[in-house]
Amino acid sequence: MATGKNRKPLGLYVHIPFCKSKCEYCDFCSFVPNSQAVIEHYVDALILQMEDWSDRCRGYEVDTVYVGGGTPTYLDPKHISRIFNAMYDNFRVSRGAEISMECNPATVDFRALRRIRRAGVNRLSIGLQSANDSELMALGRIHTFRDFRATYDDARRAGFDNISVDLMYGIPEQTEQSFIYSLSSVTALSPEHVSLYALKIEDGTPFAERRDSLSLPDEDTEYKMYVRASSYLAAKGYLRYEISNFAKEGQECRHNLKYWHCDEYLGLGAGAHSYFEGERFAATRSVRDYIDGLEIINNDIKVIVSSDSIDSRESMEEYVMLGMRLEEGVSISEFKKRFGVSFTERYGVLLDEYIDDGFVVKDEDHYRFTSAGMFVSNFILSGILNFGKDGE
Ligand code: SF4
Repeated sequence: MATGKNRKPLGLYVHIPFCKSKCEYCDFCSFVPNSQAVIEHYVDALILQMEDWSDRCRGYEVDTVYVGGGTPTYLDPKHISRIFNAMYDNFRVSRGAEISMECNPATVDFRALRRIRRAGVNRLSIGLQSANDSELMALGRIHTFRDFRATYDDARRAGFDNISVDLMYGIPEQTEQSFIYSLSSVTALSPEHVSLYALKIEDGTPFAERRDSLSLPDEDTEYKMYVRASSYLAAKGYLRYEISNFAKEGQECRHNLKYWHCDEYLGLGAGAHSYFEGERFAATRSVRDYIDGLEIINNDIKVIVSSDSIDSRESMEEYVMLGMRLEEGVSISEFKKRFGVSFTERYGVLLDEYIDDGFVVKDEDHYRFTSAGMFVSNFILSGILNFGKDGE
């Protein structure tokens, strides 16, 4: 995406950490607010943080925005308008910017969606997870498939011509058949983009507490679900461009591509991560600390709780780890241009060992995973990268 003269492109992530109720598997930075006042204070703090960053971002042009959560559509549209007005006041947002918002069914109606569209949001990502109500109930979702249908139809009527739908596999009691039913129910609506995530049982969640009593599909079934879904979606015109993401031609999420390409982005809000001017940093996940840190002048509470300058070895490993998630894989020539080091000598020889097993393919300028390789990519990459380990 071309940006204004001499300005560098920047992605902006805005985190809304509120949900109507907490899903059984969720360990995201999200909470059920105990009052409207918390939401109002949070929006005030978010606006203060935008004002705080405004000067440092003068040399940048925002070409992608992603409002995620939590459930951004849980906010009253008047709060959403305030956030967007502050964003346009404090950052230079390019005309053709991709502006995405996450949305959960049963949290938003047609009028609210129309206001969100008018505020400038041009891409909606709807969290469905399954088209089977029993699976939705098992996950602790607050909506049915019918609720999703209503939200989807309202979004189209409100003018959204770029919609993504999230689905999950590995849900308790889910079968290959029920998963394909979810896929076919979604593709029948022809959204522009589909994301497929494997359910992970994260520590500290209600699912983790009763892990042993959950009837989860085994790894083999999960693998079959993933491979079958990839070919099912391809046959319907959705091309995989990243391990979990499938899009109709030209409808890839430009904001998320920034993460995988290691481009710069600024995260605003509690728990938000940033990669800006060679530094990675993250804000506190505590909504209270976040609000206090920004609203109370001279308060000792630090909003940014972790900050790391990335050295060149870490940068290279991160680039490989994220780039190999992409269907296109890692470009040997681009790697050389970026780091001045031969990808083939450093990592290629290690990846070559997986070519015969059918997990990796190599062409003239790229190393990339096959479908089977994508499924075991974490295992392969942790074997070849020193990421997170001491020393070389
Ligand atoms: S809607 Fe999303 S963020 Fe909210 S509790 Fe459920 S999974 Fe977590």
